[in-house]
Amino acid sequence: MIQTVCVYCAASAKVDSTYLSAASQLGQLLVKHKIHCIYGAGKTGLMGALADSVLANKGKITGIIPQFMMDQNWHHNELENTIVTNTMHERKSKMASMADAAIALPGGCGTIEELMEVITWKQLNLYPKPIVIVNIKGYFDPLIEMLNKAVEEQFMRPEHAKLWEIVTNPNEVLKTLYNSLSTNQNGLNFAVV
Ligand code: AMP
Repeated sequence: MIQTVCVYCAASAKVDSTYLSAASQLGQLLVKHKIHCIYGAGKTGLMGALADSVLANKGKITGIIPQFMMDQNWHHNELENTIVTNTMHERKSKMASMADAAIALPGGCGTIEELMEVITWKQLNLYPKPIVIVNIKGYFDPLIEMLNKAVEEQFMRPEHAKLWEIVTNPNEVLKTLYNSLSTNQNGLNFAVV
């Protein structure tokens, strides 16, 4: 059962409107499926578009943000639930543990780092949850190519490519989440390269 998902996405608002629309569309779909959304509590960019969409559709959303970002007033002011953490590590750990799955929309280094962290944890059997990459406009192509390169050059095994799922638009996210691999049966043996 997927009741809560964590969405990683961009703070930047300067991006092509296709990306912002995808974040809004995902917010709408999560509400339609009664899924609680966890995200980084930002008010700008894809984060803002996602949150505004969930709020406009009367869904449930929780933002998790470190105190230093609150001090900069980077947080979304209209969230009913905001969890303030002391550190970035605490924030990411809470975001990951509170949700049943992770979804990555396009973003900058923050989003990429959050995505790589959950993939790494999943390889180590520390994160037995689905991970879906929403590859809008082929944005993640170079990152996917890098991961494939890691497999090709035997830094990872071909089985490790099952750690994540790739979709091209928000409409495909939910059915992919429901069908995707969440646990591996081999524990830490899975991680062995
Ligand atoms: P990025 O994908 O680099 O835009 O990173 C998104 C992540 O960056 C968020 O989860 C935050 O850790 C952080 N971040 C960067 N700028 C902001 C901002 N203006 N408001 C909130 N979070 C931000």
